[in-house]
Amino acid sequence: MSTDFASASVVLGIRARTIVPLAGEEPARGARLFAPLKKIDNGVLVVRDGLVEDVLPWSSARLPAGSVVRDVGPVCLAPSCVNAHTHLELSHLAGKTLWGQGFVPWLRSLLPLLGKEPERAPVQEACADMASTGTLAVGNITGSLPGGTRLVHACCREVGLAADQFCEWFGFGPLPPGEHVLWPPRCRAAVEDDPSLAAVSAPAGHALYSTGAQILANARRECARRGRVFSFHLAESPEETQMLVNGSGPLRELYEGKVLPPDWAAPGLRPLAHAVSLGLLGPGTLAVHGVHLDAQEVEVLAASGAALCLCPRSNRNLGVGLAPVRELMESGCLLCLGTDGLTSNRDLDVRREALWLRETLDLPPEALVRMLTVNGAAALNRRGSGVGRLQPGSPAAFCVLPEGLTY
Ligand SMILES: [Zn+2]
Repeated sequence: MSTDFASASVVLGIRARTIVPLAGEEPARGARLFAPLKKIDNGVLVVRDGLVEDVLPWSSARLPAGSVVRDVGPVCLAPSCVNAHTHLELSHLAGKTLWGQGFVPWLRSLLPLLGKEPERAPVQEACADMASTGTLAVGNITGSLPGGTRLVHACCREVGLAADQFCEWFGFGPLPPGEHVLWPPRCRAAVEDDPSLAAVSAPAGHALYSTGAQILANARRECARRGRVFSFHLAESPEETQMLVNGSGPLRELYEGKVLPPDWAAPGLRPLAHAVSLGLLGPGTLAVHGVHLDAQEVEVLAASGAALCLCPRSNRNLGVGLAPVRELMESGCLLCLGTDGLTSNRDLDVRREALWLRETLDLPPEALVRMLTVNGAAALNRRGSGVGRLQPGSPAAFCVLPEGLTY
C-alpha cells in the first residue's frame, strides 16, 4: 500500500512486527537470489515528506516531538512491488475470454472483443486495486485499443502508480517513413501531445509471430538509443514455437489472411533463436513469459543480459505451461514478475504470482521477494529511483507480504 501521508510535513513512524527493507540491495541473479534477507523485528519505518528517512528497530527509534505513529500490527512489511507486465486497457474484458483450452482458443475468444475504446471505470478500478495491494511501479502494454493510451496514463497517475507505457507495435506494416516509425499508430497522437506521457513511454513489440521483424528490430534500436526498456512477449505458447519453426499450426491458421502478409515465411527458428537473430535481446530488454525455453535457451537468455518477466498464473490460466523457473533462477537471468492483464488473470496483485510460485514450486521467499521488488525495479530501469527498497530517500510506499512470503 502507498502511505497516505505523502503531503504531510510531520514525521510519521510506521511500526510493524517485521520489516524487510532490502536497503542497499542490488538486483539479484543466480545464487544471490537465495541469500538471506535482512529483517528488522519490531521495526519502524520513519517517513518525512513522503520519503523514507530511516528504517530501524523500534527500540532505537528517536522520533521528534509531534511525530505520528501508526502501528500496523503483526505483519511483515516490504518495499512496494513492481508489476512488470500488465495490460490495463483490457480491464473491461475481464471474464470474457476462454481459459484452460490453450493459447489459440484464448486468442480466438479475445480478438472479436478488440476494436472499441476501453471503458474508464474498469481501468480506474484495476489501477486502484494495484495501488491498494502494494504495487508502486508498473510495466503496462498499451496501444491495443483506440484511446487506450491516454486513458491508462491518466488512471495510473490518479492513484500514484509509476507506470511505464510500452506502446505496442502489432502487425507487419508497411511503415510510414522517417521518425514516425517510433510510435505505433494507436499511441502516436497521445504520446506526441502529452510530454508527461512521452516521458514514460517506449515503443514495444507484441510478439515474434505477430509483429514484423524490421518493426521489432527498429523499436528495440530506438529504445536502446533513448535509454528506454524494450518489451515484448517471448516463447509464451507451444503454438508460437510451432509457427516460427514450421510455419504451421493453429496460430498460423488464425492469423493467415488477417494479420500475416501474403509473403510471410516462417524464420525456421525457435522463438529465442529468432529473437537473437533480430538483435532483440540484451541489457534494456524485458522479455515476457519465457515459458517455452529449453536448457540451452535459458543460458543464452541469461548471458544476453535481458530481463525476463514471469507471469505464472496467466500461463496456468490459459494452459500454456509453466516456465522453467528453477533453471532460470540458477542461470543468472534477471527475473521479475507480472500479472499480465485481466483477460488472462483474476486480479492484478503481483504478490500472488510470487505466492503461487512459492506454493507450486516451493521456491524460497527470499528469491520471490527480490523478484517482486529490486529485480522488478531494475527490469523497468528504475534502479536509481529508490523503487523496490525502503532506505533513506526512497518512496515511502510499502506492501504487506502475504502469509507464505513472510519471515
Ligand atoms: Zn501480455
